[in-house]
Amino acid sequence: MLKVVKFGGSSLADAKQFKKVADIIKADKDRRYVVPSAPGTRFDGDIKVTDMLIALYELAAKGEELDEQLAKIKERYDDIIKGLKIKDFNLDDEFAAIKAELEYNPTCDFAASRGEYLNGLIMAKYLGFEFVDPKEIIFFNEEHGLNTYKTEKKVDERLKNIEYAVIPGFYGSDKLGQIMTFSRGGSDITGSIVAAALKADVYENWTDVSGFLAADPRIVDNPVGIDMITYRELRELSYMGASVLHEDAIFPVRSVGIPINIKNTNKPEDKGTWIVESTGHKPEYVITGIAGKKGFCAVSITKALMNSEIGFGRKVLQAFEENDISFEHMPSGIDTMTVVVHADEFIPKEQKVVSAIHRLTEPDAVEIETDLALIAVVGRAMRSQRGTAGRIFASLSHANVNVRMIDQGSSELNVIIGVENKDFENAIKAIYDIFVTTKL
Ligand code: ASP
Repeated sequence: MLKVVKFGGSSLADAKQFKKVADIIKADKDRRYVVPSAPGTRFDGDIKVTDMLIALYELAAKGEELDEQLAKIKERYDDIIKGLKIKDFNLDDEFAAIKAELEYNPTCDFAASRGEYLNGLIMAKYLGFEFVDPKEIIFFNEEHGLNTYKTEKKVDERLKNIEYAVIPGFYGSDKLGQIMTFSRGGSDITGSIVAAALKADVYENWTDVSGFLAADPRIVDNPVGIDMITYRELRELSYMGASVLHEDAIFPVRSVGIPINIKNTNKPEDKGTWIVESTGHKPEYVITGIAGKKGFCAVSITKALMNSEIGFGRKVLQAFEENDISFEHMPSGIDTMTVVVHADEFIPKEQKVVSAIHRLTEPDAVEIETDLALIAVVGRAMRSQRGTAGRIFASLSHANVNVRMIDQGSSELNVIIGVENKDFENAIKAIYDIFVTTKL
């Protein structure tokens, strides 16, 4: 077996966490390639090292004094080195080099990437693994996208003869050899790329929760965990805001059929969540999870005989495209079409969009509804169950929630429900209760 293991910032925030991580790695000899994040927060109100480094870059860009901020960052690492009792090792030269580079050629990506780089050096030393700098194996193209071909080739070439290695997450290099980072949370992507390039058996992603929960714990008390979820189900859920894993981390492993196991560094005995391509594993509940988000608007366009007008839908969407607004859903009736959009993107441009709709489609009426929340009820088992939609709507009616919009995804994997913002929490509780608590 070959496992690629990624540890998040909270798993590496201090020496105590580092020790837990080392125990986890040493407990399984298949955990051969380790991808660390930068040290995260240790307590409420603490600052992530990545944020400290971005602040350092801002000082450098203004040509200000760096020593004080550098010292604060160095202290975080020195505490870890001291706590781990690593002998004959310090990061003095590294910090001098970071200072010199930022004084000479300050870039935000370089500064931000140093969090993972330094943590990787410590981890490699502590574990006795080889350190591999991702700037030599992860490559970006001009558009800031990944150069997949070159990256996979280099990762494979470089790592296949190394038995145990630490590869810092979050960055690589661009065409000119300059450091470039992924978006925030991007160490998840590095882990996924390494796992895919090496055709690992599993990509373990260690964090501070025991995987995904069936609902938001701020809304539902003690929601059950999700043992297994397919990539497609997760996409439907993460799309609505449930984020344990960076969205872009799914594609590399998914494309080669490698499962992801989300695990909790603080509770390694918990099974966590398995994210898989496809499964015959029977889920315990009809629904896999519920997620949602407030703050949508529904723009409804009515026009008699719309259904027989060729190109009507395209023209409506053009009005949104012209104004740079993406849409979430688009339920339609015979003479109406509704476009659901994020309120914060739409409201500032509302009148421009309405006039564009008039210009392009000559509608009978355009109506805007605000304060809409969307809830996605997701589950691969829904397809083969009778009455799922009936139960969802019965539960909402019992909870006195007025349903404003319904959209069943054509995949039959999800039902999207629009309710008023004020009913959002009650609606989620009601749906959770009927499917999980009472297990109907
Ligand atoms: N350290 C980076 C961040 O805070 C990347 C990561 O943790 O994945 O976003």
